[in-house]
Amino acid sequence: MGQGKNLMRLDLLLARAAERLKAAASPSPRLDAEVLMCHVLGVSRAWLYTWGDRDAEPLVRARFEALIAARAQGRPVAHLVGEREFWGLTLKTSDATLIPRPDTECLVEAALARGAAEKGQLVDLGTGTGAIALAFASERPGWQVTGVDLSPQAVALAADNAAALGLSRVRFLQSDWFAALSGECFSLVVANPPYLADDDPHLGQGDVRFEPRSALVAGEEGLADLYWLVGEARDHLVPGGWLLLEHGLEQGAAVRQALEDAGYLDVATLEDLGARDRVSLG
Ligand code: GLN
Repeated sequence: MGQGKNLMRLDLLLARAAERLKAAASPSPRLDAEVLMCHVLGVSRAWLYTWGDRDAEPLVRARFEALIAARAQGRPVAHLVGEREFWGLTLKTSDATLIPRPDTECLVEAALARGAAEKGQLVDLGTGTGAIALAFASERPGWQVTGVDLSPQAVALAADNAAALGLSRVRFLQSDWFAALSGECFSLVVANPPYLADDDPHLGQGDVRFEPRSALVAGEEGLADLYWLVGEARDHLVPGGWLLLEHGLEQGAAVRQALEDAGYLDVATLEDLGARDRVSLG
C-alpha cells in the first residue's frame, strides 16, 4: 500500500492537513482535519483511528484537500460539513444563522432546571438553527415549544432540523421577537440574542467572520437587545415564569441590574462550562 503516485495513507494526509491548518491559525487543527475527513468518507472518528493506515482514493484526497484549503482560509468547519453537534443533536447549519456553540448548552441546562414540570410553554427568541428550542424539546416531551427568528432562512432551517430529529411538534415562526406572539404567554422565555458591540475585535477573528452580523451585533455596546427583551418579556410570561438570557462575559451585572429594575424576582446568574458569567435569569 502507499506505493502509487497519488496514493497516500489517511493518517499521513490527516497529519499534513493538521500542520497546514495549524499554520493557518485554526484553534483546533487536528480536530478540524478529522471532522473534514470523516465528512468526505462518511465515517466516524473511531473508524479513522482504526483504519488510518488505509490509502485514500484519489477522489477522496482531492475532496479532502479542497475542504482543507477552504478551512485554511477561515471558513467554519460547520459550514463546510453543513452540520454541528449541539446537546447531542446533529443540527444542519448554514450561513444564515449563528453556528451553535457549546457555551449555549448552559442556557439549555438552566431552562431545564427552571422547566422541570411535566408541561409548560417555552419560546426561544432568535432561534437560528433551532438549537435551544430543539434541545429543550428533546428533553421535555410534554412541553409546547416555539422558536422564532426574524430571518425566514433561519426559520426554514430550524423547521428542517426539527423534522430530521423527529421533533416536528416544535413550532417555528418568522417573527421580529414577540411580534407574531401577541397575547401569548410562556412559562419560559429564553434567548441567545446578539450581544457584541459593533467594534468588538472578536468580530474580525475566526468563525464569526462568516456568521450573520444581525445574529452577533447589537447597539449600546451590545446591550440593546438584551435590555429590550428584559422589558418586553414581562408581558409574555405566565405568573412564576422565567426569562433566561445568554450574554457576554462582561455584561452580567448590567443585565441583572436591568432585570431587577424591571421588577423581576429571584434574579440570578449561571456560569457556563468554563465557569464564566454567561447566563442571567429572573
Ligand atoms: N458568544 C458569541 C461569540 O462570542 C456571540 C453570540 C451572540 O452574540 N449571541 O462569538
